[in-house]
Amino acid sequence: MLAAAQAASTAPLLWAQLLGTARRGMATSLLRVPPPQGLLRPLAVPERLLLGPGPSNVPPRIQAAGGRQLLGHMHPEVLQVMDEIKAGIQYAFQTQNRLTLAISGSGHCAMEAALFNLLEPGDTVLVAINGIWGQRAADIARRLGANVYELLKPPGKYFTPQDIEQGLVQHKPLVLFITHGESSTGVLQPLEGLGELCHRHGCLLLVDAVASLGGAPIFMDQQEIDVLYSGSQKVLNAPPGTAPISFSERAREKLLKRKMKPLSFYLDMGWLANYWGCDGEPRRYHHTAPINSFFSLREGLAILAELGLESSWEQHRANCTQLCQGLIDLGLELFVKEEKARLPTITTVRVPEGYNWKDITAFLMDSHGVEIAGGLGPTVDKVLRIGLMGCNSTGANVDRVLRALQDALNRCHRSRLRHGNTQQAKSQWKEAGIARGMEERAVLSRYETWLKTPSLITPIAWPLSSFPSSGPRAC
Ligand code: PMP
Repeated sequence: MLAAAQAASTAPLLWAQLLGTARRGMATSLLRVPPPQGLLRPLAVPERLLLGPGPSNVPPRIQAAGGRQLLGHMHPEVLQVMDEIKAGIQYAFQTQNRLTLAISGSGHCAMEAALFNLLEPGDTVLVAINGIWGQRAADIARRLGANVYELLKPPGKYFTPQDIEQGLVQHKPLVLFITHGESSTGVLQPLEGLGELCHRHGCLLLVDAVASLGGAPIFMDQQEIDVLYSGSQKVLNAPPGTAPISFSERAREKLLKRKMKPLSFYLDMGWLANYWGCDGEPRRYHHTAPINSFFSLREGLAILAELGLESSWEQHRANCTQLCQGLIDLGLELFVKEEKARLPTITTVRVPEGYNWKDITAFLMDSHGVEIAGGLGPTVDKVLRIGLMGCNSTGANVDRVLRALQDALNRCHRSRLRHGNTQQAKSQWKEAGIARGMEERAVLSRYETWLKTPSLITPIAWPLSSFPSSGPRAC
Protein backbone atom coordinates (compact mmCIF):
# COMPACT_ATOMS: atom_id res chain seq x y z
CA MET A 1 0.00 0.00 0.00
CA LEU A 2 2.73 2.34 1.09
CA ALA A 3 4.87 1.26 -1.84
CA ALA A 4 1.96 1.90 -4.21
CA ALA A 5 1.42 5.38 -2.73
CA GLN A 6 5.12 6.16 -3.05
CA ALA A 7 5.15 4.94 -6.65
CA ALA A 8 2.14 7.14 -7.43
CA SER A 9 3.81 10.22 -5.95
CA THR A 10 7.14 9.74 -7.76
CA ALA A 11 5.54 8.80 -11.10
CA PRO A 12 5.01 12.37 -12.36
CA LEU A 13 8.63 13.19 -11.52
CA LEU A 14 9.90 10.17 -13.41
CA TRP A 15 7.73 11.02 -16.38
CA ALA A 16 9.00 14.57 -16.38
CA GLN A 17 12.59 13.30 -16.30
CA LEU A 18 11.90 10.81 -19.05
CA LEU A 19 10.15 13.42 -21.19
CA GLY A 20 12.97 15.88 -20.60
CA THR A 21 15.54 13.32 -21.73
CA ALA A 22 13.44 12.42 -24.74
CA ARG A 23 12.97 16.07 -25.69
CA ARG A 24 16.67 16.79 -25.30
CA GLY A 25 17.49 13.72 -27.38
CA MET A 26 14.95 14.74 -30.01
CA ALA A 27 16.23 18.31 -30.05
CA THR A 28 19.82 17.16 -30.42
CA SER A 29 18.94 14.88 -33.29
CA LEU A 30 17.11 17.73 -35.03
CA LEU A 31 19.93 20.21 -34.76
CA ARG A 32 21.75 20.84 -38.00
CA VAL A 33 23.64 23.92 -36.80
CA PRO A 34 26.09 23.26 -33.97
CA PRO A 35 26.74 25.82 -31.23
CA PRO A 36 29.24 28.30 -32.70
CA GLN A 37 32.77 27.67 -31.43
CA GLY A 38 33.40 31.41 -31.07
CA LEU A 39 30.58 31.73 -28.57
CA LEU A 40 31.97 28.92 -26.45
CA ARG A 41 35.09 30.97 -25.84
CA PRO A 42 35.14 33.93 -23.42
CA LEU A 43 34.36 37.37 -24.82
CA ALA A 44 37.56 39.10 -25.93
CA VAL A 45 37.72 42.90 -25.83
CA PRO A 46 41.19 44.45 -26.11
CA GLU A 47 42.15 47.77 -24.51
CA ARG A 48 42.33 50.51 -27.12
CA LEU A 49 42.55 54.26 -27.07
CA LEU A 50 39.77 55.36 -29.41
CA LEU A 51 40.96 58.56 -31.06
CA GLY A 52 38.92 58.15 -34.22
CA PRO A 53 35.78 60.13 -35.04
CA GLY A 54 33.79 58.07 -32.55
CA PRO A 55 32.94 56.16 -30.55
CA SER A 56 35.27 57.48 -27.87
CA ASN A 57 36.30 55.57 -24.75
CA VAL A 58 33.75 55.07 -21.99
CA PRO A 59 35.08 56.11 -18.55
CA PRO A 60 34.57 53.73 -15.59
CA ARG A 61 31.70 55.74 -14.07
CA ILE A 62 29.65 55.47 -17.27
CA GLN A 63 30.62 51.81 -17.77
CA ALA A 64 29.46 51.05 -14.24
CA ALA A 65 26.13 52.80 -14.85
CA GLY A 66 25.53 50.70 -17.96
CA GLY A 67 26.32 47.52 -16.03
CA ARG A 68 23.70 48.11 -13.32
CA GLN A 69 20.86 45.63 -12.80
CA LEU A 70 17.80 46.18 -14.97
CA LEU A 71 14.59 47.81 -13.88
CA GLY A 72 11.33 47.78 -15.81
CA HIS A 73 11.02 50.40 -18.52
CA MET A 74 7.92 51.92 -16.85
CA HIS A 75 9.22 51.80 -13.28
CA PRO A 76 9.13 55.19 -11.58
CA GLU A 77 12.90 55.13 -11.01
CA VAL A 78 13.50 54.69 -14.75
CA LEU A 79 11.00 57.45 -15.57
CA GLN A 80 12.94 59.61 -13.10
CA VAL A 81 16.21 58.84 -14.92
CA MET A 82 14.49 59.77 -18.19
CA ASP A 83 13.44 63.10 -16.68
CA GLU A 84 17.03 63.70 -15.61
CA ILE A 85 18.21 62.89 -19.15
CA LYS A 86 15.70 65.40 -20.52
CA ALA A 87 17.02 68.10 -18.21
CA GLY A 88 20.61 67.15 -19.13
CA ILE A 89 19.82 67.46 -22.85
CA GLN A 90 18.10 70.82 -22.26
CA TYR A 91 21.31 71.99 -20.57
CA ALA A 92 23.66 70.57 -23.25
CA PHE A 93 21.47 72.04 -26.05
CA GLN A 94 20.76 75.27 -24.09
CA THR A 95 17.04 74.99 -24.66
CA GLN A 96 13.79 75.19 -22.73
CA ASN A 97 11.94 73.06 -25.32
CA ARG A 98 9.34 70.76 -23.80
CA LEU A 99 9.75 68.24 -26.61
CA THR A 100 13.24 67.10 -25.64
CA LEU A 101 14.19 63.44 -25.25
CA ALA A 102 16.61 60.69 -26.25
CA ILE A 103 15.88 58.45 -29.22
CA SER A 104 16.53 54.74 -28.66
CA GLY A 105 19.01 54.47 -31.51
CA SER A 106 22.23 55.95 -32.82
CA GLY A 107 22.79 59.34 -34.48
CA HIS A 108 21.32 58.09 -37.77
CA CYS A 109 18.16 57.16 -35.91
CA ALA A 110 17.84 60.73 -34.61
CA MET A 111 18.48 62.03 -38.13
CA GLU A 112 15.63 59.83 -39.36
CA ALA A 113 13.42 60.86 -36.43
CA ALA A 114 13.93 64.53 -37.35
CA LEU A 115 13.25 64.06 -41.06
CA PHE A 116 10.45 61.47 -40.70
CA ASN A 117 8.54 63.78 -38.37
CA LEU A 118 9.24 67.15 -40.02
CA LEU A 119 8.65 66.10 -43.63
CA GLU A 120 5.71 64.71 -45.54
CA PRO A 121 5.85 63.45 -49.13
CA GLY A 122 6.07 66.44 -51.47
CA ASP A 123 7.48 68.83 -48.83
CA THR A 124 10.51 70.78 -50.00
CA VAL A 125 13.75 70.45 -48.04
CA LEU A 126 17.06 72.17 -48.71
CA VAL A 127 20.08 70.15 -47.65
CA ALA A 128 23.45 71.83 -47.14
CA ILE A 129 26.06 69.32 -48.28
CA ASN A 130 29.77 69.81 -47.52
CA GLY A 131 30.49 66.23 -46.45
CA ILE A 132 28.79 62.90 -45.91
CA TRP A 133 26.10 63.95 -43.43
CA GLY A 134 24.29 66.22 -45.84
CA GLN A 135 24.44 63.41 -48.39
CA ARG A 136 22.88 61.01 -45.90
CA ALA A 137 20.14 63.49 -44.93
CA ALA A 138 19.29 64.05 -48.61
CA ASP A 139 19.12 60.29 -49.13
CA ILE A 140 16.73 59.84 -46.19
CA ALA A 141 14.55 62.76 -47.30
CA ARG A 142 14.29 61.34 -50.82
CA ARG A 143 13.19 57.98 -49.43
CA LEU A 144 10.39 59.87 -47.68
CA GLY A 145 9.21 61.29 -50.99
CA ALA A 146 10.30 64.82 -50.14
CA ASN A 147 11.31 67.32 -52.78
CA VAL A 148 15.04 67.61 -52.09
CA TYR A 149 17.34 70.44 -53.18
CA GLU A 150 21.05 70.35 -52.47
CA LEU A 151 23.22 73.32 -51.55
CA LEU A 152 26.81 72.30 -52.21
CA LYS A 153 30.20 73.36 -50.84
CA PRO A 154 33.50 71.56 -51.35
CA PRO A 155 34.61 69.33 -48.45
CA GLY A 156 36.65 71.41 -45.99
CA LYS A 157 34.51 74.53 -46.48
CA TYR A 158 31.47 75.88 -44.63
CA PHE A 159 28.35 77.79 -45.69
CA THR A 160 28.02 81.55 -45.27
CA PRO A 161 24.67 83.19 -44.48
CA GLN A 162 24.72 84.50 -48.08
CA ASP A 163 25.00 80.95 -49.45
CA ILE A 164 22.08 79.90 -47.30
CA GLU A 165 19.93 82.90 -48.16
CA GLN A 166 20.43 82.30 -51.89
CA GLY A 167 19.24 78.72 -51.46
CA LEU A 168 16.24 79.79 -49.39
CA VAL A 169 15.19 82.38 -51.94
CA GLN A 170 15.67 80.02 -54.88
CA HIS A 171 14.03 76.87 -53.49
CA LYS A 172 11.62 78.12 -50.81
CA PRO A 173 12.07 75.04 -48.61
CA LEU A 174 10.05 74.19 -45.50
CA VAL A 175 13.16 72.78 -43.81
CA LEU A 176 16.90 73.46 -44.07
CA PHE A 177 19.27 70.69 -42.95
CA ILE A 178 22.82 71.63 -41.97
CA THR A 179 25.64 69.89 -40.05
CA HIS A 180 27.28 71.73 -37.16
CA GLY A 181 30.27 69.38 -36.79
CA GLU A 182 31.08 67.79 -40.16
CA SER A 183 32.98 64.76 -38.92
CA SER A 184 33.89 63.52 -42.42
CA THR A 185 35.76 66.74 -43.21
CA GLY A 186 36.55 68.27 -39.79
CA VAL A 187 34.60 71.49 -40.42
CA LEU A 188 32.71 73.47 -37.79
CA GLN A 189 29.73 75.24 -39.38
CA PRO A 190 29.02 78.72 -37.93
CA LEU A 191 25.33 78.87 -36.98
CA GLU A 192 25.00 82.54 -36.01
CA GLY A 193 22.05 84.15 -37.72
CA LEU A 194 20.93 81.03 -39.62
CA GLY A 195 17.82 80.42 -37.50
CA GLU A 196 16.61 83.98 -37.88
CA LEU A 197 17.37 83.83 -41.62
CA CYS A 198 15.40 80.61 -42.06
CA HIS A 199 12.42 81.96 -40.12
CA ARG A 200 12.37 85.12 -42.25
CA HIS A 201 11.95 82.80 -45.25
CA GLY A 202 9.28 80.61 -43.63
CA CYS A 203 11.66 77.68 -43.17
CA LEU A 204 12.60 75.52 -40.17
CA LEU A 205 16.25 74.99 -39.23
CA LEU A 206 17.35 71.38 -38.60
CA VAL A 207 20.90 70.92 -37.24
CA ASP A 208 23.04 67.77 -36.83
CA ALA A 209 25.32 68.16 -33.81
CA VAL A 210 26.31 64.50 -33.39
CA ALA A 211 30.03 65.23 -33.58
CA SER A 212 30.07 68.67 -31.97
CA LEU A 213 27.74 68.66 -28.95
CA GLY A 214 29.68 69.45 -25.78
CA GLY A 215 32.83 70.16 -27.80
CA ALA A 216 31.81 73.40 -29.52
CA PRO A 217 29.33 76.08 -28.46
CA ILE A 218 25.75 75.66 -29.59
CA PHE A 219 22.73 77.57 -28.23
CA MET A 220 19.53 76.02 -29.51
CA ASP A 221 17.12 78.71 -28.28
CA GLN A 222 19.32 81.77 -28.84
CA GLN A 223 20.29 80.54 -32.31
CA GLU A 224 16.64 79.75 -33.12
CA ILE A 225 17.36 76.16 -34.10
CA ASP A 226 14.11 74.22 -34.63
CA VAL A 227 15.34 70.66 -34.43
CA LEU A 228 18.68 69.65 -32.98
CA TYR A 229 20.01 66.14 -32.46
CA SER A 230 23.22 64.51 -31.32
CA GLY A 231 24.65 61.13 -30.31
CA SER A 232 25.78 59.48 -27.10
CA GLN A 233 29.15 58.07 -28.16
CA LYS A 234 31.25 61.13 -28.87
CA VAL A 235 31.77 63.93 -26.31
CA LEU A 236 29.20 62.36 -23.96
CA ASN A 237 31.41 59.23 -23.71
CA ALA A 238 28.47 56.83 -23.40
CA PRO A 239 28.17 53.72 -25.57
CA PRO A 240 26.47 54.23 -28.94
CA GLY A 241 22.73 53.65 -29.11
CA THR A 242 20.95 56.68 -27.66
CA ALA A 243 20.56 60.06 -29.33
CA PRO A 244 19.45 63.35 -27.75
CA ILE A 245 16.93 65.32 -29.80
CA SER A 246 14.81 68.43 -29.26
CA PHE A 247 12.03 70.22 -31.18
CA SER A 248 11.21 73.93 -30.88
CA GLU A 249 7.61 75.16 -30.55
CA ARG A 250 7.68 76.08 -34.25
CA ALA A 251 8.76 72.54 -35.14
CA ARG A 252 6.13 71.09 -32.80
CA GLU A 253 3.43 73.09 -34.59
CA LYS A 254 4.60 71.62 -37.91
CA LEU A 255 4.23 68.13 -36.40
CA LEU A 256 0.73 68.93 -35.16
CA LYS A 257 -0.31 70.12 -38.62
CA ARG A 258 0.80 66.98 -40.41
CA LYS A 259 -1.74 65.60 -42.87
CA MET A 260 -0.60 62.02 -42.35
CA LYS A 261 1.12 60.12 -39.56
CA PRO A 262 4.92 59.81 -39.78
CA LEU A 263 5.93 56.75 -41.81
CA SER A 264 7.78 55.27 -38.84
CA PHE A 265 5.88 54.11 -35.77
CA TYR A 266 9.09 53.62 -33.79
CA LEU A 267 10.20 57.19 -34.42
CA ASP A 268 6.77 58.87 -34.19
CA MET A 269 7.42 61.93 -32.01
CA GLY A 270 3.79 61.94 -30.84
CA TRP A 271 4.30 58.54 -29.21
CA LEU A 272 7.81 59.34 -28.02
CA ALA A 273 6.68 62.67 -26.52
CA ASN A 274 4.13 60.77 -24.47
CA TYR A 275 6.56 58.05 -23.35
CA TRP A 276 9.06 60.73 -22.31
CA GLY A 277 6.42 62.71 -20.39
CA CYS A 278 6.60 65.71 -22.74
CA ASP A 279 2.86 66.01 -23.46
CA GLY A 280 1.43 66.22 -19.94
CA GLU A 281 -0.57 62.97 -20.49
CA PRO A 282 -0.09 59.75 -18.49
CA ARG A 283 2.87 57.88 -19.95
CA ARG A 284 2.02 54.86 -22.11
CA TYR A 285 4.20 51.99 -23.24
CA HIS A 286 5.62 52.68 -26.68
CA HIS A 287 8.72 50.46 -26.85
CA THR A 288 10.95 48.73 -24.32
CA ALA A 289 13.59 51.39 -23.87
CA PRO A 290 17.29 50.47 -23.70
CA ILE A 291 17.26 51.12 -19.96
CA ASN A 292 20.94 50.48 -19.29
CA SER A 293 21.88 52.73 -22.18
CA PHE A 294 19.73 55.41 -20.53
CA PHE A 295 21.71 54.92 -17.30
CA SER A 296 24.95 55.47 -19.24
CA LEU A 297 23.60 58.48 -21.11
CA ARG A 298 22.41 59.97 -17.82
CA GLU A 299 25.94 59.69 -16.42
CA GLY A 300 27.49 61.14 -19.60
CA LEU A 301 25.18 64.14 -19.31
CA ALA A 302 25.87 64.38 -15.57
CA ILE A 303 29.65 64.53 -16.18
CA LEU A 304 29.09 67.32 -18.72
CA ALA A 305 26.87 69.20 -16.26
CA GLU A 306 29.46 68.84 -13.48
CA LEU A 307 32.29 70.03 -15.73
CA GLY A 308 30.19 72.84 -17.21
CA LEU A 309 29.63 73.47 -20.90
CA GLU A 310 32.03 76.40 -21.09
CA SER A 311 34.90 74.41 -19.54
CA SER A 312 34.15 71.52 -21.86
CA TRP A 313 34.22 73.77 -24.95
CA GLU A 314 37.44 75.36 -23.74
CA GLN A 315 39.09 71.97 -23.08
CA HIS A 316 38.19 70.69 -26.56
CA ARG A 317 39.38 73.87 -28.28
CA ALA A 318 42.70 73.94 -26.35
CA ASN A 319 43.54 70.28 -27.04
CA CYS A 320 42.56 70.60 -30.69
CA THR A 321 44.85 73.62 -31.04
CA GLN A 322 47.71 71.71 -29.42
CA LEU A 323 47.07 68.74 -31.74
CA CYS A 324 46.97 70.94 -34.85
CA GLN A 325 50.26 72.58 -33.90
CA GLY A 326 51.85 69.17 -33.29
CA LEU A 327 50.65 67.91 -36.68
CA ILE A 328 52.09 70.97 -38.41
CA ASP A 329 55.37 70.41 -36.53
CA LEU A 330 55.44 66.87 -37.92
CA GLY A 331 55.33 68.40 -41.39
CA LEU A 332 51.70 67.42 -42.01
CA GLU A 333 49.07 69.57 -43.72
CA LEU A 334 45.76 70.30 -42.01
CA PHE A 335 42.75 69.75 -44.27
CA VAL A 336 40.75 72.71 -42.94
CA LYS A 337 42.77 75.82 -43.64
CA GLU A 338 40.85 78.41 -41.62
CA GLU A 339 41.60 77.96 -37.93
CA LYS A 340 38.18 79.06 -36.69
CA ALA A 341 36.49 76.58 -39.05
CA ARG A 342 38.25 73.60 -37.46
CA LEU A 343 36.00 71.25 -35.52
CA PRO A 344 37.44 71.05 -31.97
CA THR A 345 36.41 67.39 -31.60
CA ILE A 346 37.72 65.89 -34.87
CA THR A 347 40.80 67.04 -36.74
CA THR A 348 41.42 66.17 -40.37
CA VAL A 349 44.93 66.05 -41.76
CA ARG A 350 45.92 65.27 -45.34
CA VAL A 351 47.47 61.85 -45.99
CA PRO A 352 51.10 62.81 -46.65
CA GLU A 353 52.74 62.17 -50.00
CA GLY A 354 54.31 58.72 -50.22
CA TYR A 355 51.99 57.14 -47.64
CA ASN A 356 48.80 55.13 -47.73
CA TRP A 357 46.32 56.00 -44.97
CA LYS A 358 45.56 52.33 -44.33
CA ASP A 359 49.21 51.66 -43.51
CA ILE A 360 49.19 54.49 -40.98
CA THR A 361 45.90 53.64 -39.27
CA ALA A 362 46.75 49.94 -39.09
CA PHE A 363 50.21 50.72 -37.74
CA LEU A 364 48.81 52.95 -34.99
CA MET A 365 46.27 50.31 -34.05
CA ASP A 366 48.68 47.39 -34.07
CA SER A 367 51.78 48.98 -32.63
CA HIS A 368 50.41 51.71 -30.37
CA GLY A 369 46.90 50.49 -29.46
CA VAL A 370 45.53 53.76 -30.79
CA GLU A 371 42.64 54.07 -33.22
CA ILE A 372 42.54 56.94 -35.68
CA ALA A 373 40.55 56.78 -38.91
CA GLY A 374 40.88 57.46 -42.61
CA GLY A 375 38.49 59.70 -44.48
CA LEU A 376 34.78 59.11 -44.97
CA GLY A 377 32.58 59.88 -47.99
CA PRO A 378 34.20 62.70 -49.93
CA THR A 379 37.43 62.56 -47.90
CA VAL A 380 38.17 58.85 -48.39
CA ASP A 381 41.86 58.34 -49.28
CA LYS A 382 42.53 62.04 -48.71
CA VAL A 383 42.64 62.52 -44.94
CA LEU A 384 43.28 60.97 -41.57
CA ARG A 385 40.75 61.82 -38.86
CA ILE A 386 41.79 62.20 -35.24
CA GLY A 387 39.11 62.55 -32.58
CA LEU A 388 39.61 64.03 -29.11
CA MET A 389 36.22 63.83 -27.47
CA GLY A 390 35.02 64.10 -23.89
CA CYS A 391 37.35 62.28 -21.52
CA ASN A 392 39.65 61.50 -24.46
CA SER A 393 40.31 65.19 -25.04
CA THR A 394 43.47 65.53 -22.92
CA GLY A 395 46.99 66.89 -23.39
CA ALA A 396 48.38 63.41 -22.63
CA ASN A 397 46.36 61.89 -25.49
CA VAL A 398 47.52 64.64 -27.85
CA ASP A 399 51.14 63.73 -26.99
CA ARG A 400 50.44 60.03 -27.36
CA VAL A 401 48.84 60.26 -30.79
CA LEU A 402 51.54 62.64 -32.04
CA ARG A 403 54.28 60.25 -30.88
CA ALA A 404 52.49 57.36 -32.56
CA LEU A 405 52.12 59.34 -35.79
CA GLN A 406 55.79 60.30 -35.73
CA ASP A 407 56.62 56.61 -35.43
CA ALA A 408 54.25 55.80 -38.31
CA LEU A 409 55.82 58.46 -40.52
CA ASN A 410 59.22 56.88 -39.87
CA ARG A 411 58.07 53.38 -40.66
CA CYS A 412 55.22 53.51 -43.16
CA HIS A 413 56.69 55.41 -46.10
CA ARG A 414 56.07 53.48 -49.29
CA SER A 415 59.74 53.46 -50.24
CA ARG A 416 60.59 51.99 -46.87
CA LEU A 417 57.86 49.40 -47.07
CA ARG A 418 58.78 48.47 -50.65
CA HIS A 419 62.34 48.06 -49.50
CA GLY A 420 60.97 44.86 -48.03
CA ASN A 421 61.21 43.28 -51.49
CA THR A 422 64.39 41.54 -50.46
CA GLN A 423 65.37 38.11 -49.25
CA GLN A 424 65.68 39.51 -45.74
CA ALA A 425 62.13 40.93 -45.73
CA LYS A 426 60.80 37.67 -47.10
CA SER A 427 62.36 35.71 -44.29
CA GLN A 428 61.03 38.26 -41.76
CA TRP A 429 57.52 37.68 -43.11
CA LYS A 430 58.03 33.93 -42.94
CA GLU A 431 59.28 34.05 -39.37
CA ALA A 432 56.45 36.28 -38.17
CA GLY A 433 53.79 34.29 -39.98
CA ILE A 434 55.00 30.95 -38.72
CA ALA A 435 55.24 32.35 -35.18
CA ARG A 436 51.51 33.07 -35.56
CA GLY A 437 50.74 29.55 -36.64
CA MET A 438 50.36 30.29 -40.34
CA GLU A 439 51.58 27.90 -43.00
CA GLU A 440 54.69 28.99 -44.87
CA ARG A 441 52.81 28.86 -48.18
CA ALA A 442 50.09 31.20 -46.85
CA VAL A 443 52.65 33.65 -45.51
CA LEU A 444 54.52 33.80 -48.80
CA SER A 445 51.33 34.24 -50.77
CA ARG A 446 50.42 37.10 -48.43
CA TYR A 447 53.86 38.58 -49.06
CA GLU A 448 53.35 38.37 -52.84
CA THR A 449 49.92 40.00 -52.56
CA TRP A 450 51.43 42.77 -50.49
CA LEU A 451 54.07 43.43 -53.15
CA LYS A 452 51.32 43.78 -55.76
CA THR A 453 48.66 45.62 -53.70
CA PRO A 454 50.37 47.01 -50.61
CA SER A 455 47.33 48.97 -49.45
CA LEU A 456 45.43 45.75 -48.70
CA ILE A 457 47.98 44.16 -46.41
CA THR A 458 49.90 45.21 -43.31
CA PRO A 459 53.59 44.85 -44.14
CA ILE A 460 55.92 42.81 -42.06
CA ALA A 461 58.49 45.61 -41.86
CA TRP A 462 56.57 46.54 -38.72
CA PRO A 463 56.89 44.92 -35.32
CA LEU A 464 55.91 41.28 -35.28
CA SER A 465 52.80 42.13 -33.27
CA SER A 466 51.36 43.80 -36.32
CA PHE A 467 51.04 40.65 -38.37
CA PRO A 468 48.53 39.76 -39.61
CA SER A 469 46.80 43.07 -39.36
CA SER A 470 43.30 43.83 -38.21
CA GLY A 471 41.64 45.97 -40.86
CA PRO A 472 41.28 49.72 -40.63
CA ARG A 473 38.09 51.07 -39.19
CA ALA A 474 36.02 54.14 -39.70
CA CYS A 475 33.16 55.67 -37.87
N1 PMP B 1 26.15 62.91 -37.94
C1 PMP B 1 27.45 63.13 -37.66
C2 PMP B 1 27.99 64.53 -37.79
C3 PMP B 1 28.27 62.09 -37.26
O1 PMP B 1 29.55 62.31 -37.00
C4 PMP B 1 27.71 60.79 -37.14
C5 PMP B 1 28.55 59.62 -36.67
N2 PMP B 1 29.82 59.60 -37.14
C6 PMP B 1 26.36 60.61 -37.44
C7 PMP B 1 25.61 61.70 -37.83
C8 PMP B 1 25.72 59.27 -37.37
O2 PMP B 1 25.73 58.78 -36.07
P1 PMP B 1 25.70 57.21 -35.73
O3 PMP B 1 26.93 56.60 -36.30
O4 PMP B 1 25.66 57.24 -34.23
O5 PMP B 1 24.46 56.67 -36.34
